[in-house]
Amino acid sequence: HLSQRLLCVADLIEKGARLADIGSDHAYLPAYLALKGQIEFGIAGEVVKGPYENAKQEIKKEGLEDKVQARLADGLNAIELADQINVITICGMGGTLICDILEAGKDKLVDHPQLILQPNVGEENVRRWLLANNYQITAEYIMEEDGHIYEVIAASYTDEKQTLTPEALQFGPYLLQKKNAAFQAKWQKEIAKLETILKELNKANQVPVAKKQALEAKIAQIGSVLNG
Ligand code: SAM
Repeated sequence: HLSQRLLCVADLIEKGARLADIGSDHAYLPAYLALKGQIEFGIAGEVVKGPYENAKQEIKKEGLEDKVQARLADGLNAIELADQINVITICGMGGTLICDILEAGKDKLVDHPQLILQPNVGEENVRRWLLANNYQITAEYIMEEDGHIYEVIAASYTDEKQTLTPEALQFGPYLLQKKNAAFQAKWQKEIAKLETILKELNKANQVPVAKKQALEAKIAQIGSVLNG
């Protein structure tokens, strides 16, 4: 009963992985992968008691106690270096929160685990954090499910820092290559949102011209990416 969004994340995890899923709610992702025999070990990290209890219950219900552990902890504090985690997933949160969790937990990243992140918003922040911390984006997906658009970003540690153009940071280097239907829908919605703001500004008094022009430029830029 995994959502398409989490299935996409699951498909990126290699056989034999030692996974920490941070913000795991019902532990659906690690439980699914453990049942499939895809992971060797899993942690379901949760900072909130209720979701942590749910995760514990799910693990018990599926008889996975020897393979998946629910841990009540803030962010990467759920991980001990002795766990030898080599994949961290953080899904279903804002990009800024994802970056805060990674930044605060840098001491748990010393063995350079693969990162698979699914920000609901603020993807650009996530890409910036990855590049600044020697992570190279290796795959990206965008999909629409239940009226929401989701992005998945996978990254691996690299000795050589990756650089991306401002456009690739904003839209996603791999997503830009395909510009699939979900990508089109996401950025059409963004244009519509900006146009609504522009209309309001045009109605209001004393709005600096530069502000309107900046907005117009932003709309034009997205338009040119969509039509390019
Ligand atoms: N990862 C699941 C998914 O994608 O379906 C659950 C997403 S749910 C919207 C976000 C979860 O992250 C919540 O259960 C919340 O308690 C948890 N969370 C938020 N901040 C966290 C943190 N700093 N450390 C661990 N868990 C956190």
